[in-house]
Amino acid sequence: MSHETNHDLEAACAEKGMRMTEQRRVVARVLQASNDHPDVEELYRRASAIDPNISISTVYRTVKLFEDAGVIERHDFRDGRSRYETLPEEHHDHLIDLRSGKVIEFRSEEIEEIQEQIARKLGYRLVDHRLELYAVPLDKNR
Ligand SMILES: [Zn+2]
Repeated sequence: MSHETNHDLEAACAEKGMRMTEQRRVVARVLQASNDHPDVEELYRRASAIDPNISISTVYRTVKLFEDAGVIERHDFRDGRSRYETLPEEHHDHLIDLRSGKVIEFRSEEIEEIQEQIARKLGYRLVDHRLELYAVPLDKNR
């Protein structure tokens, strides 16, 4: 995926000309510090630990604003909740553990290459993709 080289979310927001209120900065900082694809409720929990006056609707609106500006990514891992992460330094895909809900990041050069080949065969140049694996832990007793 082609991302801007700036990985600091607050700086990326400033570059987009976004007006950064203190509460927006708190949400940006919480997102920056999260590696686990939190949803809005979880972001709200973390943000209110920093600023008890922040409301869930502020968190919701801020996340929407960031998403619309393209400075964060939204994921839908089929559990009915939108989850967010800052733009990764290097593209990765996700495996979702259906039992625990845990999200595991991975990157496979083979998959990256195969996807490019498929697009090429179809007459296209691949510019982006998303891949989600839904899985359950292996039963080790079998
Ligand atoms: Zn991720």
